[in-house]
Amino acid sequence: IQMELQEIEKMRVISQIAASVSHEIRNPLTTVKGLLQLFREKELSADKRENLTEVALHELSTAINIISDYLTFAKPQITKMMPLDLGAELRQVVSVLTPYANMQQVTLTVTVDSDQPILGDSQQFRQCIINLVKNCIEASSNGRVDISAIMEGDAVVMRIQDTGCGMNEDQIQRLGTPYYSTKEKGTGLGTMVAFSIIRAMNGTVRVESEVNKGTLFEISCPVSYPDIMKIT
Ligand code: ADP
Ligand code: MG
Repeated sequence: IQMELQEIEKMRVISQIAASVSHEIRNPLTTVKGLLQLFREKELSADKRENLTEVALHELSTAINIISDYLTFAKPQITKMMPLDLGAELRQVVSVLTPYANMQQVTLTVTVDSDQPILGDSQQFRQCIINLVKNCIEASSNGRVDISAIMEGDAVVMRIQDTGCGMNEDQIQRLGTPYYSTKEKGTGLGTMVAFSIIRAMNGTVRVESEVNKGTLFEISCPVSYPDIMKIT
């Protein structure tokens, strides 16, 4: 029963967030719709057009960012937990984010020293790591982000270390709370989504950070042994 209540609570939180996220997406889209109607109905000076186009593009970026940070999290009910090939998953994430890292002159590396599978949903796990690594890249222009994975006891420990701007105590505390962002086009959803996915995988996450030095995310997930090993 305890387990079920926890699951219900999780679903309740998820659907509350889903409702507020759809609200957050509706606002910018409504603004863009209004602007397009204005364009159709009114003769506007070139200057005015330019300004309003800027506003519309900004609003659309906001909506797109919210969708990208939230994407897989929004459909938790079709989660399929299975053993994941950690090396393959992490390399996939790195290949997706390498162009983004290059754009900000960030060196992005991955080293995997464990061939133990962990239990999770591939799409969600990737979303989780993408959200965290994306933040590290955004904090570290001209620096580096290094990802590693290693077995420690019964767990696989993944470390994401950056050489970025870091966070103070207060900022670390607020990390993972919905809509907390220090960025102009931030959603404040990326970290919250990442932490929820780790929790759903029975993992833990630890953050170490120092202003102007960098940040470390340490994620620990239990290894998924094949059933045959549990019996013997
Ligand atoms: P967003 O990236 O849209 O702002 P997130 O939830 O992904 O929202 O991150 C919330 C905030 O946490 C960021 O705005 C930033 O201030 C801080 N943050 C997250 N990761 C890092 C990091 N690696 N280095 C420094 N600050 C970070
Ligand atoms: Mg982010």
